[in-house]
Amino acid sequence: MKITDLKCAIIGTSPVVRIVTDEGIDGYGQGGYTKPFLKPFVEYFRDQLIGADPTDVERTMLRIRQRGSFKPYGTALSIIENALWDIAGKAAGVPVYKLLGGKVRDRVATYNGNLRSPIAENSPEAYADAMRTMKALPHNFRLVKQGVAFHSQMKYEPGFYFGTPQPKVSHGILDRGLLTHQGMSHVVECVTAMKEVLGDDVMLALDCGPGMMPTDVVRLSEELEHLNITWLEDTVTGDYTPYVLADVLRDVTRKSRIPIHTGEQIYLRQHFRELIETRAVDIIGPDPADVGGMAEMKWIAEYADLHGILIAPHGTGNGLLGLACQVQVGATMPANFIAFEYPTGNPDWWYDIVDGLPDPIVVDGEVEVMERPGMGIELIPEAAKKYLREEDQGFFD
Ligand SMILES: [Mg+2]
Repeated sequence: MKITDLKCAIIGTSPVVRIVTDEGIDGYGQGGYTKPFLKPFVEYFRDQLIGADPTDVERTMLRIRQRGSFKPYGTALSIIENALWDIAGKAAGVPVYKLLGGKVRDRVATYNGNLRSPIAENSPEAYADAMRTMKALPHNFRLVKQGVAFHSQMKYEPGFYFGTPQPKVSHGILDRGLLTHQGMSHVVECVTAMKEVLGDDVMLALDCGPGMMPTDVVRLSEELEHLNITWLEDTVTGDYTPYVLADVLRDVTRKSRIPIHTGEQIYLRQHFRELIETRAVDIIGPDPADVGGMAEMKWIAEYADLHGILIAPHGTGNGLLGLACQVQVGATMPANFIAFEYPTGNPDWWYDIVDGLPDPIVVDGEVEVMERPGMGIELIPEAAKKYLREEDQGFFD
C-alpha cells in the first residue's frame, strides 16, 4: 500500500488530516479546535509522505518526526501518526488497539475537564455552582478538573499576584509570579467550596498553571492537603510552555503531599525521559494529538509505569476523532492509567458527521471501546461536506 495524497481541512475550527492511499483506504486525524492555523504546517508534510507504506507507521513517521516540536506544533505530526494508525487498522481489519498491543480493558475511564457551566464571577460560590453542574451530569464522571490560579480568571483579579497579566491575545499566554496572601487564600476558599459540593463521590483535580512559583505550589499543597485533591496540574510549567524544567518540578513533587501532574505540551518520549527517570512528577498527562501520536503515548505510558508514575492523558480540545484516539490507546495502557480528559464535538454538529460512537458515549464515567476497524469511528463524508469551507471543498474527493 502506498500513500497517494495528504489533505488538511479546517472542520469547525479543528485541523483534520486525511491521508489517501492507492488501495482505496483512507485515514483521519484531528487536532485541537484552537489550532486552525496549523493547516499549512500539516500540508507541508504531503510531499514527504507520498509513496510511503502507511501500514509501516513507524517507518513512515521517521520521514517527518524531526519537524515537530512542543505544543502547538507537535499537533501536525501527531494527527498524521494517528491517521496512519487509522489506515493500518482498516487495512488489517482490526481496531487500532489490536496493533498497539491489544486491549487490557473493555471500557476506558474518562474525566471531565470540559462539560461545565461558565464561572460567572470569581467567587467561591460560583466555583461551587460549577461543581454542582458537573456533578449532576448523566455521565457520572468520577473525577472532574477545574482550573484555578494561573489557569483561571483568578489571575486577572487585582492583587492576586505580584505581576501584571498579559492581554488575552491568544491561547497559552505565560503569566507568572508569586501569589499574594489574598491570592493564595482565594484559591483555598474556592477549592474548599468546590470540595464541599463534590464530597467524597467525585474526585477533584486542579489545573493551576503554568506560572506558579515553586514555593507557592508547595504552600498550596500544604493548605489543600486535608481536601484529598487528586492532582495539581501544570503548576510551574505546562500547557503552552515550550520547556519542561524537570528538576524544578522534582523539588516541588518531593515537598508536596498532593500528586503533581504535567506534560500536555510535551512532544516526544525524549522530553518525558528526565521527568520519568528522576520521578519529577507523580502523574504525566501527554496529549495524543501533541505528543507525537498514539504509539508515542503508549510507549511513554509503559515507561512511566516502570517508574511508578501514573498517566492521565490530556486532550479536551481534540474533538470526536481525538476521543476515539484516547479510547483506542487508553484500552491498551497498563494499570498506571487513570482516565483521559473528555473531548466533545465542537461545534455540536460534529456528532452528526461521525459514525460509530457509543450512545450514550459515557456511562458511569467510562467509554466502551469501539470495535470497528481503524480508529473505531468514521467521518461521514456526505454529512460532513456541507460544513467544509470554500477552500476545502475537495477534501473528500
Ligand atoms: Mg492542563
